[in-house]
Amino acid sequence: MADQSDPTSEIVPVAEAIRGELAALVGDDAPEVSDALGRLLDECRAAPDATSRGRAEDGLYQLLAQREGTRLRMDELLPRFVEERADPAYSGLLGVTDPVAVDRWVCERGDYAYPVLDADDTPPRNCPTHGIPLVFVPAEG
Ligand SMILES: [Zn+2]
Repeated sequence: MADQSDPTSEIVPVAEAIRGELAALVGDDAPEVSDALGRLLDECRAAPDATSRGRAEDGLYQLLAQREGTRLRMDELLPRFVEERADPAYSGLLGVTDPVAVDRWVCERGDYAYPVLDADDTPPRNCPTHGIPLVFVPAEG
């Protein structure tokens, strides 16, 4: 089919991966987000044509963009998406330059951010890509 290279189709495996990490990403919202993700993933799989599949994929994207935890994770997993969005707020230093509502641990090279959503959270010590220690950035605004 003509649209096989459509990068939005990557949202399905990304959403499946994020669904398994929801407790860490969105805390108490996890059951609600998991239900909504599950419905949209079922819609994607059951979609009879590209148009309905595209609609369900848009829904996945919007759902994941609603919460900071899932949005950051989606941006990590969908690098091509981030580039194509051409939003000046996404200039590369993810989480380092943006005003943020939660404390987080970030990679100095800007590819990784771990939002601290719970005082009992144990953040990773090092960037999974670079292996360098993460830097603590307190919440703003
Ligand atoms: Zn890094």
